[in-house]
Amino acid sequence: MLLHHLKKEDIKNILIYVCDSLRWDYTPQLIFNKGIGVKTIASSLYTAPSFPCLISGLYPNKTEVYNWQDTLKKELRGLFNFRGYNSSLWCETTWTDLPPWDSDLHHVLGRPLGISLKEIEEPFVYIEDDKGGHCPYGIDFGHYETFDQYYKEVGKYGNDELRTQYKKSIETSIHHFENRLQTLNERGLEDNTLVIFTSDHGELLGEYGGLVDHGRPPCPELIYVPTVFIHPSIAPEKIDSHIIRHIDIFPTIASLLNEQTTYTPDGIDLTNQDFPKSGMNFRIGGYFHPRTIFDRLTIYQALSIWDSNGGHSFQPLNKNISFAKFLFMLLSKHPEFTYFHEHLKYQSKNKLNDMKTILKTLTQPHYKYGQPSINKKEAKNLIDSQQQESLKFSEKMKIDRMVVKILKDKHV
Ligand SMILES: [Zn+2]
Repeated sequence: MLLHHLKKEDIKNILIYVCDSLRWDYTPQLIFNKGIGVKTIASSLYTAPSFPCLISGLYPNKTEVYNWQDTLKKELRGLFNFRGYNSSLWCETTWTDLPPWDSDLHHVLGRPLGISLKEIEEPFVYIEDDKGGHCPYGIDFGHYETFDQYYKEVGKYGNDELRTQYKKSIETSIHHFENRLQTLNERGLEDNTLVIFTSDHGELLGEYGGLVDHGRPPCPELIYVPTVFIHPSIAPEKIDSHIIRHIDIFPTIASLLNEQTTYTPDGIDLTNQDFPKSGMNFRIGGYFHPRTIFDRLTIYQALSIWDSNGGHSFQPLNKNISFAKFLFMLLSKHPEFTYFHEHLKYQSKNKLNDMKTILKTLTQPHYKYGQPSINKKEAKNLIDSQQQESLKFSEKMKIDRMVVKILKDKHV
């Protein structure tokens, strides 16, 4: 069991610091020295669908937040719904053109309040999304008008430079995190606050023929992120032989704060259960609602399941359609592949091979990464049964909402 030493009576507040786009293998040792750090399976591949999993303890096929235009349903805003707790979502370094209390992420999560850590009153659940390892690396948002421009620039120098700049970004984020810990210290809240340092997904740094950023495909670089639990009663340790999942954060916090959950989360309470055996990741839908029939027909999807040694990924879109779509995107120099093209011009020794690798990675119906303990068939069965369960869950939630509405209309 992971957190059995933690005494519930010690914990009054929760601080979750999400170092955006931080890979497990690029997490500085400095962070692991602060608490107990465990390899974590991200539940989706980019910010909008990943955060709702942290907040609700549910996989994306139950939160039904698939893109930036969806909003997490009120009854599923678990961490923001604890009665008697002040809650805050703070985005100071992520949407720098907007106030920290009114970002795009606030919209996705149903407009929770945003109160700074200096001001929020106890007891609280404070969640911050920090720029972390999000591109452009090593500099603030706004420096380049588009990410495309950044990748055009850095593409000239290749993967080593890209990774050096990424590390610089992480260092800056760790510095912000230290400031938050300092604030807790100044307020005398260290002993009664559980700090959770994590990330919403990882980051690709030129792997698989020149893929960068995040969003697709599910692969170890995007799936494995760190979660570090920090409290004076927790001895530092780094665990990579087991995993936990984003979906375990909400039930664990609910248990620590003695709060009841109004639905059954997909995750488990890490204070009294053993490590989970596997974790799933769902990438369903694009970044926005599909606008055309072409969008709908070619929408990228990936369902995958992982343990600490690897995983199975399934990309259900017809392989030929998928291949034609990505080949067109590559040849037409779609902004998603800017780095690849720049990198080709200046760095790559085998252009055709790089292109083949990208196409294979994004279109293969099944992909096995590493040495997962389960086989392809078991992986498929587990994902299918979770998908079935999510249909039942959505149906039940719909009925519950109808009942609440009827009772409200009748003023019961
Ligand atoms: Zn993110």
